[in-house]
Amino acid sequence: MALYQENDLRIYNSLTRKKESFEALNAPHLGLYVCGPTVYNDVHLGNCRTFISFDLVYRYLTHLGYKVRYVRNITDAGHLENDADEGEDKISQRARLEKLEPMEIVQKYTLGFHQIMEKFNAHPPTIEPTATGHIVEQIQMIEKILEAGLAYEVNGSVYFDVAKYNQSNDYGKLSGRKIEELISGTRELDAQSEKRNPLDFAIWKKAAPSHIQRWQSPWSEGFPGWHLECSVMSTKYLGPTFDIHGGGMDLKFPHHECEIAQNKASQGSEGVRYWMHGNMLTLNGQRMSKSTGNTLLPLELFTGNTEKLEKGFHPTVVRFFMMQAHYGSQLDFSNEALLAAEKGYHKLMDAWQKLQNAQAGSNGEFSVSEWRQRCYAAMNDDFNSPVLIAHLFEAVRFINSAEGAQLALNAKDLELLRQTFHDFLFDVLGLEEISESQGGEKLDQVMQVLIELRAQARADRDFALSDAIRDKLAAAGVALKDGKDGTTYTLEN
Ligand code: AMP
Ligand code: ZN
Repeated sequence: MALYQENDLRIYNSLTRKKESFEALNAPHLGLYVCGPTVYNDVHLGNCRTFISFDLVYRYLTHLGYKVRYVRNITDAGHLENDADEGEDKISQRARLEKLEPMEIVQKYTLGFHQIMEKFNAHPPTIEPTATGHIVEQIQMIEKILEAGLAYEVNGSVYFDVAKYNQSNDYGKLSGRKIEELISGTRELDAQSEKRNPLDFAIWKKAAPSHIQRWQSPWSEGFPGWHLECSVMSTKYLGPTFDIHGGGMDLKFPHHECEIAQNKASQGSEGVRYWMHGNMLTLNGQRMSKSTGNTLLPLELFTGNTEKLEKGFHPTVVRFFMMQAHYGSQLDFSNEALLAAEKGYHKLMDAWQKLQNAQAGSNGEFSVSEWRQRCYAAMNDDFNSPVLIAHLFEAVRFINSAEGAQLALNAKDLELLRQTFHDFLFDVLGLEEISESQGGEKLDQVMQVLIELRAQARADRDFALSDAIRDKLAAAGVALKDGKDGTTYTLEN
């Protein structure tokens, strides 16, 4: 029997606003779609949180024995400034600023995104389709929506007719908004607007002469609207109805609401059975976002090369910090929280080391099978990683309570504890051991010597020497950071 048959996984479905028992449509196969990044700049730590949250989901579903087809797209065209229907394309704008081809921008930031995801030990999706690779399919979907009478063409652009759709459907059902409120909340259409109604959204835009990325279509030379690609790529690879669609909360409206409308209009079914939304990472209580500058880049975090941090942190520690919060809760980033996570991480890993070397004895009070059940129950409760971590710490206390290497467990239970601890720590939470070559006691001692020599050189006002020590270490991938409690170091990974 597969693990998923023994476990009652419950998922909070944003569409019904309830935790529901999860039934895969076609077990053991399972379709998961997650909205990927728009590759026009470096991903910030907030973006990473959403992708790491869904990596946890993917890992647990896989652990349960599902054969997951995990599709996460790359938005490489059609996403305009302010997520709106007017304005410059984010990628073209960047291409102009950096004096590069749009596809060079796409390549540069896609590679950067992949590197960062790898550092966080996030698995790649099984399919990573791009918007520009699916223009033909997007044109076909627009044709179907037009055929259904739910879109209209004006001057070479095509708009989705929200008011008409809403006559027999509920536009706003996902985000819990009423169409009347939405209408009263929007600005009056200005005279040049081609839309019949302010809520209508573009599914095809005629390209202005300055717009670089453009394709032939029956309506004009232009480009697809941003929301369309996800409808097209999710249903192309996962079928007209599929299991799970995820993304950050900020995408619920309008992006996901529009996806539902496009799916229903083009194929008669809404597509998604379970909608999951990850909550935001905040910095100083405000959502982390590139546009406001309230942001932190992963590399700044790994090296500590920012005023916002006292020192750098290993990516697996940052991942652990994120896992300590439920994906649906807001998480505030701070230096103190990272330091606490680092301590917790080392405690877990020390216990894992002990467990590997432990010897069996006879059973005492700790029941491994009950504890194991609690670990699964935590994850079955809408992927509740903080509760899982609390259970792992229960085991840590038990492991640390042993005097010497012998645990109060018989050989069979000791093996079950090892296996379960390993599965949850590495396979499900996706943590990694920081190897000796990435740190460790010996290196700490060597670095202490260098840090002291540098401090001495500074005290002697021999800045040529102190700078040389810092620069040569940096060239070797070791960053020094001077804080109020002295100098610390981090290794670039
Ligand atoms: P974008 O590249 O802007 O399309 O965003 C990529 C993903 O990052 C989306 O799923 C967003 O919801 C998510 N995202 C953006 N900002 C944050 C944040 N501060 N915390 C968590 N996720 C975020
Ligand atoms: Zn999307």
